[in-house]
Amino acid sequence: MKILVLGLDCAAPEILFGDERLTNIRRLMSLGAWGRLESVIPPITVPAWMCYATSQDPGSLGVYGFRNRTDHSYAGLGFATSRSIQELAIWDQLAREGKRSIILGVPPNFPPRKVNGISVGCFLTPSTSDPSVPYTYPPEIAAEIADLVGEYETDVKGFRTNDKAWLRDSIFRMSKKFWTVVQDFASRDDWDYFQCVDIGLDRVHHGFWKYHDPEHVLHEPDSPFKDVIRDYYLHLDHEIGRVLAQLDENTVVLVMSDHGARRLDGGFCINEWLVREKLLVLHEYPKAVTPFEKLKVNWAETRAWSEGGYYARIFLNVKGREAEGRIGGSAEDYGGFRDELRSRLEAVVPGTLVFKPEEIYKTVKNVAPDLIVHFGGLAYRSIGGVGYDSADPSIRRSAELVILENDTGPDDCNHAQFGAFILASGNLPLQGEIEGARLLDLAPTLLELVGSDVPSSMQGRSLIGAAVRGELTLDQEQIIRERLSGLGYLG
Ligand SMILES: [Zn+2]
Repeated sequence: MKILVLGLDCAAPEILFGDERLTNIRRLMSLGAWGRLESVIPPITVPAWMCYATSQDPGSLGVYGFRNRTDHSYAGLGFATSRSIQELAIWDQLAREGKRSIILGVPPNFPPRKVNGISVGCFLTPSTSDPSVPYTYPPEIAAEIADLVGEYETDVKGFRTNDKAWLRDSIFRMSKKFWTVVQDFASRDDWDYFQCVDIGLDRVHHGFWKYHDPEHVLHEPDSPFKDVIRDYYLHLDHEIGRVLAQLDENTVVLVMSDHGARRLDGGFCINEWLVREKLLVLHEYPKAVTPFEKLKVNWAETRAWSEGGYYARIFLNVKGREAEGRIGGSAEDYGGFRDELRSRLEAVVPGTLVFKPEEIYKTVKNVAPDLIVHFGGLAYRSIGGVGYDSADPSIRRSAELVILENDTGPDDCNHAQFGAFILASGNLPLQGEIEGARLLDLAPTLLELVGSDVPSSMQGRSLIGAAVRGELTLDQEQIIRERLSGLGYLG
């Protein structure tokens, strides 16, 4: 049996399952099992897609976002690349059994992974037209793609823009090229595992959510862009239908997202808050809003600082760990300080969640943040810049440190903890809506369905075993008993 994984970056379950016009999606739902899919913490594209593929949490991969501290210096953060993640992925396990894979745009995939088959770079690809820096493996695949679509595009550069007509047209153009390649490659018979990730959906959500969602603080009800998001789902449904039409019945089909989407209510200025609390100490308070890396930080007096982004990563300045560490160093000082900071952060915006890495990850590798914060349950971004006390007060949403504007450009949407999945296969013993599936569960489930070994490094559970053990919410009729015996559950 073969496996086809259609990745829809950021697909929101309420739209994917709620729009009856998505006829190919509904056909898959009626054939198989589907439901919300709990993502990892943080629910971010890097590392989430590789958490799926390896069935390991971010701490075990040692990758906590697009950018990570590479050591305990104050030198800032390094970008994750495909080389940041060496753990065994589902396609590696299949390669051990001699099976071939095609992976298209699965982040992070630059430089392109060397798989037993074909690999095409993701949105982190700097250029698709520079043959000295190949974005495909093997490199000659790039010429085949150029024959199909001309200049292949892996992302819309500058997608945080107010030129929405340009953005809409650019995303659709990129996505049509992408699906042309997907359909051509999927029609070949030289793969056992095929996975692609459409990044256009993520860009559409971030660029157009305020027109789509009446609850958004900046909603414009009569905007010409009000249907762009729904139109994009229709486009995806059409393209998915064309891929499905090429498959034979011995294919397990998984449609999935790495996380969901939700409206963004604003941003919380985390470093500004740390300055006010005298935990982040500056030699000089800036006269205008200034990115964190350009601030003159008095490290010897600083206890904590943070990165901005969809969530906050708080780093503590610890004696014996950081060069100019300020916090005690003994476990008690560190632990006591961190617990107190956690409580204070939980109170800054209602619904805020604060996580300690060792509480949510099986292991904690590389340099993890000391705390991970989802402001307002991801209703608010984390704003890393400082200088809002000098800035025009009208950008404030409230007297507190919540602002409407985003410091990295227009953005209407944040990621949500729950993405979506639809799994359809002739031998799947599950049917209908299932509650309780997690991102890490899918790779073991797929391997089980095709009769492959599940490597011990994988941390998720097969959804089939979980259903049999009663760990998922579903009706007993949703378990199809005669198919369980084919998978060895009924002796
Ligand atoms: Zn994503």
